[in-house]
Formats: sequence, structure tokens, C-alpha cells
Amino acid sequence: MLRLPTFDVHRPASVAEAIQLLALHGRKARVLNGGTDLLPNAKLGMTALDHAVLLSNIPELHGITEDDGEIRLGAATKLAELAVHPVVLARLPALAHAAGRIASPQIRNMGTLGGNLCLDTRCRYINQSELWREALGGCLKSHGTECHVVPGGQGCVAALSSDTVPVLIAYGADVAISGWHQGQVTQRSVPLAELYDADGTRHVRLNDFEIVVGVRVPCPAATTRIGYRKWAVRNSIDFPLVSVALRLTTDSAAKVTGGMLVVGVLGPRPRVLDLLRFAGRAIDGRLGQDLGAWAFDRCRPLPNVPYDAEYRRERLVVEVRRLCAQLA
Ligand SMILES: Cc1cc2nc3c(=O)[nH]c(=O)nc-3n(C[C@H](O)[C@H](O)[C@H](O)COP(=O)(O)OP(=O)(O)OC[C@H]3O[C@@H](n4cnc5c(N)ncnc54)[C@H](O)[C@@H]3O)c2cc1C
Ligand code: SF4
Repeated sequence: MLRLPTFDVHRPASVAEAIQLLALHGRKARVLNGGTDLLPNAKLGMTALDHAVLLSNIPELHGITEDDGEIRLGAATKLAELAVHPVVLARLPALAHAAGRIASPQIRNMGTLGGNLCLDTRCRYINQSELWREALGGCLKSHGTECHVVPGGQGCVAALSSDTVPVLIAYGADVAISGWHQGQVTQRSVPLAELYDADGTRHVRLNDFEIVVGVRVPCPAATTRIGYRKWAVRNSIDFPLVSVALRLTTDSAAKVTGGMLVVGVLGPRPRVLDLLRFAGRAIDGRLGQDLGAWAFDRCRPLPNVPYDAEYRRERLVVEVRRLCAQLA
């Protein structure tokens, strides 16, 4: 049986207090939101955990509001709420769909948006027991010196398997971050795509003692179409093995004027492809075929997560084609 290590739980009532606790306990402290990723990883010995700073009692981190053409989603918002909230359903339906496809009802009732954005990277060689990893000799992410996915590679290419990240990038979300500098709480905000780094051992670009407070999403114009599809072996519980978010902006004649394709589960950060080259095209089956073939040439899934990488590449084409048909 895998056991949780012993650790202290701190229950701050404000963002300032949470950040001070993180600063006080330094590298031994971890942010705990729903715990559906952190706690399994602590059980596997992947994450050192001496102090957990729980975010669920902080009112500032809860809530979904719409104001002045912008939707704000708090980092402690549960995935289950995201999937059914009337504002999200009406304004950001592809996000509601993505949240509703995560894991299972129990996990969506615990798991949060902030945890989904800061989800640890996953790899078939690391999401294993300590004993299993030791037998293999470890890897760059776990007390070792080599990567088993890219032998001889210099960096960890474990995959970000979050379902909300690709679709929120397609919606043009910014992420709001609070930190601590010279005794003061600081605030900054970056486009969500820029939160992620190519190093799977430290793929979330947060400075020490920073936390994600929430995201701000501009309400899409009526001429913008956004969708999300994930492929996993089972329809429930499973992480995505291929995920695609598609944003198409159109003119009054419903012809494409631009957009982006965001591909997840390739590596530590999503791949964002600009679609300006498809401007002037109608949204039809032929566009779906061309988009799929174009994505195939640009995306190469790695054997970092289960299932055959070449099959996942073919599957990407299918998901892009189907997503385009959904948006037609
Ligand atoms: C069986 C199973 C199936 C799953 N399936 C899926 C799936 O299909 N799709 C998917 O996307 N995920 C899946 N997950 C992963 C996870 O449940 C979700 O990603 C969930 O959203 C994580 O949120 P949480 O609040 O539980 O995160 P936590 O476990 O609390 O935190 C996750 C990480 O983020 C950090 N963190 C959390 N909040 C913040 C914050 N506000 N600021 C800074 N850092 C923060 C934590 O320190 C930790 O490192 C699955 C998990 C399990 C166990
Ligand atoms: S991608 Fe390589 S270094 Fe990263 S967890 Fe997997 S085996 Fe380890």
C-alpha cells in the first residue's frame, strides 16, 4: 500500500497569509488545492511535502464572475462547478466541456482550476512507485541522470496533461499571479501560454512563493468559434493522450480570418499553432482535412505517456478533423 508522508497542513484565510506561509516554510512547503494531483504524487514519493498550504478557505480564490466583457475564474473554483456554471456554459462552453471531461465526478468535486493549471507533468517512467523508479535507475526528474523517453536528451519532456489549459489558451486567457517581495504582496498577470516552460521538471513558470490567483478570459466575439476535444482510452477517469483546442475567427461571410490550434500532451507545454495561413477558407470538411494534415507535420507525440506515439499522431489528425466539423 502507498502511504502519505506525514506533513503539516496550514489553513490561511487570505492570499497574503498563504504567501507568507509559503515564504516562511520555503522549499518544504507546497500549495494544496484539491489535492487530487499533489497527494497521489506525494504517495509515490515524487513530491517532497512537509508543509501543505491549503487554499480552499481563501474567499478571494473562489467564484466565477462576468464584468465588463471579461470572465474571472478563481483558482479554487472546483472543476465540477466550472462544468455547469451558467456563465461558463453561456460564454465559454468549450471550457465547460473540457472541465466536464476531467477524471470522474469525485475528482471533479475535489479538483480545482488552479490545480489543473499547475498540474505536474506526467510520464510513464515517473508516475510509478519509488521502488519501480529506483529499479530503473531514476531519470532527470527523479534522482537520475538520463531521460528514458529521449535517451541522451538534456531535458525532461514529460507531458502536461491538463484538459483546461489548451482550451483556456484558445480563449485568450491571462493568468493572475500573486507573490511576495520585500514584505509586500505583489501581483502580475501573463498570457496563459507563457506560464509554461519546456523543462518538464519545472514547467510552471512561477517564482518562489508565487501562487495562481485565477484567470481572466475575454468574452469571445460572436464571430469566434472555439472547441475542445480530448482522446483517452476510456471516456471517464483517463487523462488525455491527445488533446486539441481550436479557435477560428470569422468574417461576416463566415470565412476564416485567423485563429489558433493548441495541441496538448506533446511535452511540458502546449503547442500553439497560428492559423493565419488558413484565412479566407470556409469552415468545411476540406479545411478539417488540411488542418489535420498540417498539424500532423508539425506535431510529433513522444513515448512519454502510455499508448503508441505514432498512433497518437494519427489520432491527432482525426481529432482536429472532428473538431473542425463540430465548429462548422
Ligand atoms: C485518477 C485521476 C484521473 C485524472 N484525470 C485527469 C484528466 O482527465 N484531466 C486532467 O486535466 N486532470 C486529471 N487528473 C488530475 C487532477 O485531478 C486535476 O488536474 C485537478 O484539476 C488538479 O486540481 P487539484 O486542485 O486537485 O490540484 P492539487 O493536487 O491541489 O495541486 C496540483 C499542483 O498544482 C499546485 N497548485 C494548485 N493550486 C495552485 C495555485 N493556485 N497556485 C500555484 N500552484 C498551485 C500544487 O502545489 C500541485 O503541485 C486526474 C487525477 C487522477 C487522480
Ligand atoms: S521525460 Fe524523461 S526525464 Fe522526464 S520524467 Fe520521463 S523519463 Fe524522466
